[in-house]
Parts: sequence; structure tokens; C-alpha cells
Amino acid sequence: MREIVTVHAEVLVIGGGGAGLRAAIAAAESGARVALLSKVYPMRSHTVAAEGGAAGVAQPEDDLEAHFRDTVAGGDWLCDQSAVSYFVAHATAELTWLEHHGCPWSREPDGRVAVRKFGGMKRARTWFAADKSGFHILQTLFHTALALPSIDRFDEFFCTGLLVHDGVCHGVMALRISTGEPYLFLAPSVVLATGGAGRVYRFNTNGSIVTGDGLAMAWRAGLPLRDMEFVQVHPTALPGSGVLITEACRGEGGILLNAEGRRYLQDYGLGPETPPGQPRNKTMELGPRDRLSQAFWHEQRAGRTVPSPRGDAVHLDLRHLGAERLAERLPLICSLSEKHVGIHPKDAPIPVRPAVHYTMGGVPTSVDTSTAISGLYAAGECASVGLHGANRLGSNSLAELLVFGRAAGERAAARARAGAPPPPGSALGHAREHLCAIQALRAKKGTVRLAELRDAMGSIMDECFGIYRLGPDMERGLSRLVELRESWSDLELRDASERFNTELIAALELSCALDVALAIGASAAARKESRGSHQRLDAFSVRDDERFLAHSLVDYAESGVPAIRYGPVEITSYPPEERVYGGEAQVGDS
Ligand SMILES: Cc1cc2nc3c(=O)[nH]c(=O)nc-3n(C[C@H](O)[C@H](O)[C@H](O)COP(=O)(O)OP(=O)(O)OC[C@H]3O[C@@H](n4cnc5c(N)ncnc54)[C@H](O)[C@@H]3O)c2cc1C
Repeated sequence: MREIVTVHAEVLVIGGGGAGLRAAIAAAESGARVALLSKVYPMRSHTVAAEGGAAGVAQPEDDLEAHFRDTVAGGDWLCDQSAVSYFVAHATAELTWLEHHGCPWSREPDGRVAVRKFGGMKRARTWFAADKSGFHILQTLFHTALALPSIDRFDEFFCTGLLVHDGVCHGVMALRISTGEPYLFLAPSVVLATGGAGRVYRFNTNGSIVTGDGLAMAWRAGLPLRDMEFVQVHPTALPGSGVLITEACRGEGGILLNAEGRRYLQDYGLGPETPPGQPRNKTMELGPRDRLSQAFWHEQRAGRTVPSPRGDAVHLDLRHLGAERLAERLPLICSLSEKHVGIHPKDAPIPVRPAVHYTMGGVPTSVDTSTAISGLYAAGECASVGLHGANRLGSNSLAELLVFGRAAGERAAARARAGAPPPPGSALGHAREHLCAIQALRAKKGTVRLAELRDAMGSIMDECFGIYRLGPDMERGLSRLVELRESWSDLELRDASERFNTELIAALELSCALDVALAIGASAAARKESRGSHQRLDAFSVRDDERFLAHSLVDYAESGVPAIRYGPVEITSYPPEERVYGGEAQVGDS
């Protein structure tokens, strides 16, 4: 094996997306020497693709309590309420901090920051930079990080595992993608900010790098994963490509129509359409994402969707907004729609359909982002701090990256300052073995092709763990996932090269994705109720607070179906109620 290069840091941040950059900045500003690792150049992280905006109370008619209640109700009461309180209390300050570092938030003519309404939010509180919010947020964080000399960047380094010994994290093992060299990064504090896992599904809105690596690494290192059955399906993506058509379109007044030209959401308990001449009922299109995706499913079954060569769709009509407002507020959507489906939204409605978008579950953390492994922190989409419960409200995630990214950076720096014991020799031996095994995978002889295995996983996830779930389908899906995971060891890899061996990286990503898929499948099959994004059509089609007002925890298993246990949900001030939008309860929901 090639010689291992060892790098020492005080705080190691894995991930150069919004959460990772915010953590790195906070740690550096707290005086720590930071190593920031990312498998892609930071500006290519998935945060850059976010369109709609970030939530934080901004207007006098809004308040923290309203943001808290919308988030808890949106999460179908599976949120840990002290995490939600911490989040709403810090979100606005973080968005203002970002503004002071150059983020060009869109403004009203009088100079105030403009906010728009997002799904499940009863007041307008989503800050945005046109419909390129993720790009501007990430760019602001990136240039702020560039100005801090105590952040050393390791771009295009692929982290392959956490170095954990006796419940303490000492660093990570990694490959330098450009040379194939093995690296060992050692630090008393490690922040995991590796993003979500939307790519375990075939039809999704996520960038190809969103493969759940950090979730798998934490799981293999001994942490359970929490609430993995809750996967958000976004109601409006372009058929075929899965390119996201942001909720901001509906926040700006866009409406959804079925094949009959009817605003069908009124048939799903999301509020009646108001008569002409009266202010329009916007609850309908601004209901939460789980409800809108479920409504699509029913419309499709009833034959009221519009067939398109790339799958059935409904129409998102933005024509009434006019060319000028579309150009000002939704320029990216106009160009994406023209480019991918040949339609300018000022002229015709955009065909849209649901696609997997976001993983609510993840690595369990306390409100301060610490995990059950000493020295390991997690923030952003890979973490489960208890904010989103069973369904995330749109625009809470970008604000989460900032609030909890900062908390993670500060905590990690404080631990590094306090000093931690160096890794024992046996841990270094383990790291060496791990890196040897990874190198040996190059040009691995086997019979299974990578792309076929990846497609098979995605299709099973789409079929068995999608918008609606059925017991027998989930059981079938689970056994298939167990087989697929086993067949990873029979992969055939053809590229023996050391430099930019993207086949090897894809194989490592797939092994992570297969672990995460199994964690999702096992958690979903075990939850015998319907809540938020986890909706069953069998005997468990209603919410069951008595048995399942609980976080699921899935424990790692090297083979077979992993075991599930449950832990308490923290309820401080907002006890469970019926989840009602637009005046009536949703069909099929308790
Ligand atoms: C199309 C789209 C639009 C969205 N729009 C919004 C929105 O408007 N508002 C909102 O609130 N939320 C939105 N979201 C959700 C939100 O953008 C994400 O949840 C969030 O950006 C995730 O940020 P993150 O920092 O956790 O991870 P990411 O931005 O995904 O970054 C992950 C980082 O981890 C690194 N990494 C991963 N694995 C490894 C490894 N093995 N080794 C080394 N590095 C690794 C990657 O290189 C990357 O730098 C959207 C999501 C999508 C997909």
C-alpha cells in the first residue's frame, strides 16, 4: 500500500456545503485550526441548488411562537421541541449575519428584506435571493471562509470512514481523489456535515453526490440512525430529470391544476377555492409537501393527471404572475423550464410531478449538535437534531444549516481547546487496515455491474418506500435490499488507475447508499402507523400517538435486516393535535 499521509487539525469538518462551511467559520472564529474536507469543490455541494429560501421571523406580524408551532405541526409532532425553540430563536440572527457578510437578500421597494410564504407556514417568513437562494448563501459562506487563514481546505478528498475507538472519535480516513493517496486526518473534534441521501431513490431532486456517505460512516462507527423512514417527497419536480421547481413558485401565487383544469387540492382538505373577486385561498398550494405529494398520487390513480412522455404530471400555472414578476422573482425557474421542457412559464403551465427531495432522519444529536460518540458532532441534513420530525417545512433546512452549523463549529472548537487524548496505537492500526482494504478494491473482480446495482436499489426504493407504503411491498423491498447490499461485495470494477478513479469513488458511495436504503426500509416497515411523510395504505393508515409518538432508532447490522428500537420525543409546550390545514383534516390522516 502507498504511504499514508497524516494531517493534524484541531477541528475537522467533513463537508463543504452550507452546514460544513458555517461550522468551519464558527470554529475558526473561535480560534481553532480547521481542516475542511469535501469530496467536491465546496461550491458544488448540494446547497448550491437550493432555490426557494431560508426561514426566519422577519415581520412585525410574525413571531417566534408562530414559527415554532408551524414547525411542530408540520413535523406531525415528531419534533423535539427544545430543538425547535433553539432553532426559531437563532434563525433570524443567522440570516442577518449572512446579510452582513454579503448575502444579497431580495428586498421590498422600501428597503426591508422581502419574505415569501412557504408551505405549511401560516405567515410569510422565507427570506430569499430571487430563486437562487442556495447559490447566494453558499457563495457568501465560501468567500467568508476563504478570508480566514486558519481554515485549510482539502477539496476533492473522499472520506471513507470515521476513526472511532472506545466511544471517542479521533479523526477520519480519506482518499485524495486526484492522486489516490490514502490520508489520515487526526483531530480532537470532528464535525460531520455530509448532507442527505436523496440519491438512494431513483427519481429525486438531489445532486449525484448526495449518497448518504456520512450517515453510513456514523452508522458503521456504532451510532444508531434516527427517524430514517421519513423521506420527503417534493410535490413539484420536472418529469424525467427530477429538476426541482421551487415551492417559491407557489409562494408567489402559482396554482396547481389537474388534467381537467381544476385546482384539485381543494378535494384533499387543503381549503376551498374562493369565488372570483375575493382574495384567493392560498392554503391549497401552500399546504405542506407531504399532503401535496399524496394528493398527486390520488389524482394519478383517478386518471386526472396529464400524460407526458416522461411520466404523468399536473400543471403548475404561473402565467397570471406576468413576465415582469417572473423575471424578478423566479428567473431560474423560467430558464430551467425553458431548457428542460421547452416551456416559458409566462406562456404555458409547467408540467410537474413529485420527486424524492430530503431525508428528515439522520445521525441523532443533542441540541448542541453533539453525538453519543465523544468528539463527534453533526449538523445539516445528515443530522437528526429533532427539528423536522416526520416532515420538514420548506425553507427550514437552509436556516438549520446556519443555526446548527455554527453551534457545531463552536462546540467543536471548545472541545479542541480543552484538549483530548491522542488516538491509541491500535486505532492507528485499524485505520491502516481500513485504507489497505479500500485500495484493494480497485479493479476488483466480480460479476455485478455498479450501474445495474445502483438502478436496482433506486427502483426498489421508489416502488416500495415512496409516497404511500404497504406492509407486503415493504417486506418484499426489504428482502431485496438485503440481497442487493450483499451483492455489493461481488462488484466488478474495471478501472485500476490511481488518479481520479471515479469508478472506485462511485462504488464507495454506492455501498453507503445501500446501507442508508436498508436503514430507511427497516425503519419504514417497523412503523405501523401513518405520520407526516410516512403514509401507509394498509391497516395502519392513521397516526397512532399511543404506540408511535416516538423516534425510531435503527442499529447497524453487518448483514440481514437491522433491528429497530424507539426513543422518546421531547414535548415541551405544544401537545399533539390533529394536523389541520385549510379548515379540514386531510382524507386518510388522523
Ligand atoms: C434542489 C434542492 C433545492 C432545495 N431548496 C431548498 C430551499 O429553498 N430551502 C431550504 O431550506 N432547503 C432547500 N433544500 C434542502 C437544502 O438545500 C439541503 O438540505 C441543504 O443544502 C443540505 O446542506 P448540507 O450542508 O447539510 O449538505 P450539502 O450541501 O449536501 O453538502 C454536503 C457536503 O458534504 C461533502 N461530502 C459528502 N460525503 C463526503 C465524503 N464521503 N467525503 C468528503 N466529503 C463528503 C460534500 O462534498 C459536500 O460538500 C433543497 C434541496 C435541493 C436538493
